[in-house]
Amino acid sequence: MSLIVIVDDRVTNRNIFTKLAASIAEDVIVHSFGDPVEALAWLEFNTPDLIVTDFKMPHFDGAELIRRFRQIPKAADIPVVVITVYEERSFRLRALEAGATDFLHSPVDHHEFVTRARNLLKLRHQQVLLESRADSLEKKLEDSERTRVHALRDSRERLAQVIDTLPVMISASSAGGDVLFVNGQQAGFTGIDPVAVIGAPVAMLFGEEQGARHCALDRMVVETGKALPPYEEEITGKDGEKNIFLTTKSPLRDPAGGVSGILTSSLDITARKKIEAHLRHLAQHDSLTGLPNRGLLLERMRSLIVRARRGDQRFALHMVDLDGFKAVNDRLGHSGGDRFIQMIGARLSGSIREHDTLARIGGDEFALLQTHVVNGEDAAEFAGRILATVAGCSGFEGAPLRATCSVGIAMHPDDGADPETLLKNADFAMYRAKAERGNGFSFYEADLHARARRDAALDTDLRSAIQNKEFILYYQPQIDLATGAIFGAEALLRWHRPGAGIVAPGAFLGRAEENGLIVAINEWVLREACREAKTWLRPDGKALSVSVNMSPVQFQKRNVPLLVANALAESGLDARRLDLEITEGVVLKDFEAVAHDLRKLLDLGVKISIDDFGTGYSSLNYASRLPVNRLKIDQSFVRNLQSETNDAAIVRAIVTLGHSLGLRVLAEGIETAGQLAAMRAEGCDEAQGYFFGRPVPAEEFRKIAGVSVMAARGRQSAAG
Ligand code: C2E
Ligand code: MG
Ligand code: MG
Repeated sequence: MSLIVIVDDRVTNRNIFTKLAASIAEDVIVHSFGDPVEALAWLEFNTPDLIVTDFKMPHFDGAELIRRFRQIPKAADIPVVVITVYEERSFRLRALEAGATDFLHSPVDHHEFVTRARNLLKLRHQQVLLESRADSLEKKLEDSERTRVHALRDSRERLAQVIDTLPVMISASSAGGDVLFVNGQQAGFTGIDPVAVIGAPVAMLFGEEQGARHCALDRMVVETGKALPPYEEEITGKDGEKNIFLTTKSPLRDPAGGVSGILTSSLDITARKKIEAHLRHLAQHDSLTGLPNRGLLLERMRSLIVRARRGDQRFALHMVDLDGFKAVNDRLGHSGGDRFIQMIGARLSGSIREHDTLARIGGDEFALLQTHVVNGEDAAEFAGRILATVAGCSGFEGAPLRATCSVGIAMHPDDGADPETLLKNADFAMYRAKAERGNGFSFYEADLHARARRDAALDTDLRSAIQNKEFILYYQPQIDLATGAIFGAEALLRWHRPGAGIVAPGAFLGRAEENGLIVAINEWVLREACREAKTWLRPDGKALSVSVNMSPVQFQKRNVPLLVANALAESGLDARRLDLEITEGVVLKDFEAVAHDLRKLLDLGVKISIDDFGTGYSSLNYASRLPVNRLKIDQSFVRNLQSETNDAAIVRAIVTLGHSLGLRVLAEGIETAGQLAAMRAEGCDEAQGYFFGRPVPAEEFRKIAGVSVMAARGRQSAAG
């Protein structure tokens, strides 16, 4: 249906145009007006498809009609044809400006009127169709946008809810170290307000101790752009409970791929750890007596062997077997026999020192691990005490029942270098004691004279070794973790013993300390290390430092400062490039005297490190009282870092203490990238270990470190 409006003040024209318009199509409806004012009033409320208007009319002309009409909403696109007798351009222009679509010249040609009107109607219809399509399309778009926004908001809310309820503590922080987000789980455990904490420093989230560590790890993620391998840590909750978490850190990326922040998630593994500890305890202990079993005994021996690498920490393994236990069992019955074993176990464990180990390894068989053994006499005395303890029991559950035992002794390293050999040899010795009517002890090497003869031969060989120049020094690189560069090396003693190849210090240092030869040997070490290090100049002018291990025996002689001053003068080495490694053993005897000598050494400009730090009983105490520059964390901690939460806690305490005293902290025995990452995360400044390089002869070390003797010689006078 089409609606056509005719406006003309002359009736004849109106009638003609109305007829013509009606003839265009069957469904055409025509409305005609003689007065433009009337027409406008009607048009306010009706929308035609075409208007045909006269130009010259009373009240206002066609142009004015069009202008006013165009102001009605939605009237802009409706075609308007103006009929005029005037040829002048000014009329047409006015009409066009007002918004006329077309002109018809009066008198109107009927055919032309119909054709033009039909075309304009067709155009109008297409236009209306297009508009309605566009309208519905727009509506559809609006609808789908609305549902998309809803869906997005819904899924965001659901995601936030999921993140809040996940049984994992989740937080995000900016690369600059500010808190961006904390989930409900973390807020609940730590008692932190998840809204108030936003924008605060990350350290706030994890408490004082863990806070600094988290900041350091976050910096690492930003620097490397890589996720950290998961690590275990203890976090304190709002009620003071200490739970163990497995924490991971991953980089958050901006659209350009840069690291904009860090996502930290911590899974509570306290329960799992407790079960693990319980299972481990079960696996490592004897169910009858609760004492360590064979497996744990072997493990303890292995760690003692690692610590005995300098040869000054001997230990003895005592194998204990009850004499005639079968008779006891027959008399008391099976369960009585079990109670008897429990009683013996309790008596023995009451007679040993804290750092010794008592294990039950079979029916009536116990093993005792005696540490800090100097010689055979120590071990014999200990075995005597075992015999007395067992024999000291005169009755059991009201019955007069006496017990005796036989003890076999094997000593490390003399009677075996590994746990299995030591066990086998101690067993062998025990059978010999038993064969000698029991209630006694026997050494694996029954002939103590043979042992003494061997010691004497070693003494002689060591003495001639100095004269024959059989000692050599190996050098192991030390790395500055801030730059990744080698800054020096530790000098490690080796003995080219004729017929034995290259011998490590563990095999002869203990003996050399006992017979005093260590003084002469170490004097040579000091001189040789200074002479060698003097040549260590890199092409860029950087000079490397050298670390020398000192023996407690040297400090007893009270001449170390003089020795060092001489070695420096002789070699021309700058004192600041020499580092002396001492152990707790050095200060055990006479603390004040040693501290005095150390201060003298510091006055010379020499550096002092405490070696194997953490293995002694009062290391932390010594560190704060001794004038030193550096702590070297013992390799046993590095090895256990990932499996023992305890060791991680000790390492953390050492680093914190060291830094609070202004000391450098070096991690020893780094063998893997994982250990390196862990020790870096703990804040260690320096590192040493097979991962960076094994101890090697001087020539090889110079190549690794990039120092050439020629370059060094050239500069010698400039940089002494
Ligand atoms: P130390 O001072 O703690 O030296 C480090 C020892 O650990 C060295 O054994 C070294 O080879 C070893 N080591 C280094 N990195 C790793 C690693 O990644 N994994 C493992 N498993 N071991 C690593 P070495 O050369 O047998 O020396 C043993 C000990 O002998 C030294 O322990 C030191 O206390 C003593 N020693 C060495 N040279 C001298 C010396 O000239 N004088 C004195 N008095 N003692 C020395
Ligand atoms: Mg050392
Ligand atoms: Mg060490």
